[in-house]
Amino acid sequence: MKQTAELLLTNGRFLTMEDACPTAEAVAIRAGKLLYVGTADGAKAYTDENTEVIDLEGRVAAPAFTECHTHPSDYAKVMAQLNCRGKHTQSAEALLACIRERAAQTPKGEWIVASGYDETKFREGPIPVTSELLDKAAPEHPLVISRICGHICAMNSMAMRIGGIDEAFLAANPACTGFRDENGRLNGQFSSNVRSQLPIPAVSAERLEEGFLKVQEIYFQNGVTTSADMSVKPDLLSVLQKLEREKRLKLRIGVYYSANTKAFSVSRPNAAETLCLKTGFGSERLRFLGFKYFLDGSMGGKTAAVSVPYLGEPDNFGRFENNQERLNESVLLALNAGVQTAIHAIGDRAIEMALRAYENARDNGADFSALRCRVEHLEIPSEDQIRRIRELKLAVGLSSAFIYSLGDSHITAIGQEWLRHAFPMKTLTENGIPAACNCDCPVCDVNPMLGIYSMVTRTTARGQSFGGKEESVDRIRALQAYTKDAAYLLWCDDMLGTLKEGKNADVVVFEDDYLNVPEERLKDVRVAMTVQNGEIVYRA
Ligand SMILES: [Zn+2]
Repeated sequence: MKQTAELLLTNGRFLTMEDACPTAEAVAIRAGKLLYVGTADGAKAYTDENTEVIDLEGRVAAPAFTECHTHPSDYAKVMAQLNCRGKHTQSAEALLACIRERAAQTPKGEWIVASGYDETKFREGPIPVTSELLDKAAPEHPLVISRICGHICAMNSMAMRIGGIDEAFLAANPACTGFRDENGRLNGQFSSNVRSQLPIPAVSAERLEEGFLKVQEIYFQNGVTTSADMSVKPDLLSVLQKLEREKRLKLRIGVYYSANTKAFSVSRPNAAETLCLKTGFGSERLRFLGFKYFLDGSMGGKTAAVSVPYLGEPDNFGRFENNQERLNESVLLALNAGVQTAIHAIGDRAIEMALRAYENARDNGADFSALRCRVEHLEIPSEDQIRRIRELKLAVGLSSAFIYSLGDSHITAIGQEWLRHAFPMKTLTENGIPAACNCDCPVCDVNPMLGIYSMVTRTTARGQSFGGKEESVDRIRALQAYTKDAAYLLWCDDMLGTLKEGKNADVVVFEDDYLNVPEERLKDVRVAMTVQNGEIVYRA
């Protein structure tokens, strides 16, 4: 006897991402799984009077999005603190107004912790966010604000004084960097690791939980039902475990631990071995995936490690936040322990370091061909590096949303010529390299349409061409990057990423015609409905 569906989505144009059967008109769902994927007529056989039927009226639908690289831990904290993204970052004045407003509501002397400024987006030009500027908005509160890239922070004079961040501190902490004005004086901007030296009170578990639940809603509104947390923090991991016990964790989270700091780079993979913690351990909603390494900074912040200097700064080749020897040792330990690794490498010098670590592991006998090891961001790889990525059977988490959201700052930093083959989606595809796309939220908005628009049009937020269209791909390949390839990277392709009988019923329905809107409107395509495990978790 045929099983009957609890929910039927019919009269749609489903893009299944399955090669054998790329389109369908209906999906029938039972117990959170896809019972049937096919024609509207064929689906009728799976219904009875108890089946809820939703007529999609010809709307386009696809597997729900999987975000292969975001930071829910950080985003939950952003939500619990002062978020200066969006309209507040349009000008220096708007940024200061946003801080002033918070200062007015905060008892004097209490910390204000903020994030999300981007001076390259200021209408009045790239005014540096210095302590002098910040003092104007919050003279009586210690204030620290992270730049949108997460690699730089700025603080006011009171924060520097309370934190003891001065010349002596920098001399004693060579891993910390201070930026300077034209007279050589510290201007209040520092590398992000300085922030952790400040005596900022921790965000309470309650606030963090509230923050995460908001984040979960935002992901669902954007059609995302699964995401990596690329550097889970212990405080959020506790919250996530509590929410899972209480059955309130819905967004699936694939957990990566940062293995970056000197103390952890070796000891964490060791711990994985001791505890026999292998990739995939955990539950459907919350599972351990691997270790994440940082190698360089950001292109917009001119800290990514590049082989040709930044425009107008002949001595600036970016910088490393790790070294080859330590990375090799740690990556080898992780791979031998059966754990996937993901290495943040933006500039070509950092990509080189990442590939050498994998080659070193291979040459030392590690077999990681089944681990789906990752290189993250991959902004400007050379042809030779792409060949080695293929040979090493690596996968790529390409931050294509940077093209739209941060592309203008890339053009200023390294110029158009270098960007022709930046984020080389087309070349990766031609080489058969699994390549998923991402927004690195909270670096960019968690809206996959921006990453898709970026891949197809290669156009920035200000409408500039981003190195031309040699690396552009069509909208189906772009969608595949956010579904099928992303599920592969996060080790959940057995249950997600395509619409196929037996897989989990995770579906996104678009309000606008994804297949036919003009290219330049792809970024505006709205989500009408998000379904996760057969449950409607968002409806516009
Ligand atoms: Zn990231």
